[in-house]
Amino acid sequence: MRRLKSIAVVGAGLIGGSFALAARRAGFAASIVGYDRDPAVLQRAAELGVIDRAAESVTEATRGSELVMVAVPVRAIGRVLHDVGLALDPEAIVTDAGSTKAEVVRTAREELRERFPRFVPGHPIAGRETSGVEAANVELFRGARVVLTPESDTAPQAVSIVRSAWEAAGARVSTAGAEEHDRIFAAVSHLPHLLSFALVNEIASRSNAAELLEFAAGGFRDFTRIAASSPEMWRDIVLQNREALLAELDRYGARLAVFRELIEKGEGPGLERLMAEARATRLNLGGGRRGQGQE
Ligand code: NAD
Repeated sequence: MRRLKSIAVVGAGLIGGSFALAARRAGFAASIVGYDRDPAVLQRAAELGVIDRAAESVTEATRGSELVMVAVPVRAIGRVLHDVGLALDPEAIVTDAGSTKAEVVRTAREELRERFPRFVPGHPIAGRETSGVEAANVELFRGARVVLTPESDTAPQAVSIVRSAWEAAGARVSTAGAEEHDRIFAAVSHLPHLLSFALVNEIASRSNAAELLEFAAGGFRDFTRIAASSPEMWRDIVLQNREALLAELDRYGARLAVFRELIEKGEGPGLERLMAEARATRLNLGGGRRGQGQE
């Protein structure tokens, strides 16, 4: 494992904070500087020992750091990268943890220009519905998958350092194209989050919502756990991955219409067959590790 003298974390929330904790524990970085737009978060990150030093700006955090991790909501990544680009040492590397990749890569190219080959786009497939630095956890990435989506002009040595940072945190790293990444996560992450938000929204908007929610038991709670996720983060994700998500919504709508028709016609065998297929797939998937697969 390469050891770095200093890394910077921009966005000291759940993901940035957990990355910092894991990097320190693994001895990956000797010193960790943090920056967050919210001074209270930054102060808390320092109090909790998540970061060693608080910077007053993105440029201050970037200067002198060998690796900069950008862990802010996806639509804020471009602005942050602009400032990172102003202060990034020529040999330093910048990476991100954003849940969408194609739009992040496009903005990164625009903002970082000749420094773009030093940018390694990444997405840890780990998280939870609680956000913020208080929820940061040194074990968050243990056993989790991380997808890196390097472009053809991304420096291989930069990819290898980012890979070793994630491996030091206990994660398993794979690579994919940015568009492919976004299509996959539209289906298995962004769609379910949207469905969960929409269901809670629908029930909560009714005049008898309190009564309904009083009776909400296991099924409703399991299905809607992820509706407690950060609205800012998810607003950004669904807007950035709009096209792929709209396609998934259409497919889901069509599938729902099949179920609806079977119910309307009272076709028990057809319903049971579809449910049995779904059950077999779900049982095969297993329970997974708590925290993993949130995204
Ligand atoms: P979070 O809300 O816990 O933390 C984000 C932090 O970024 C906050 O402290 C916020 O104050 C700060 N911030 C926002 N805009 C900023 C800016 N312009 N400059 C500096 N700081 C800024 O969110 P999180 O869960 O840590 O998510 C961070 C990133 O990781 C997002 O891009 C998200 O898509 C991605 N991600 C999240 C999860 C998850 O399950 N939570 C999983 C994988 C990837």
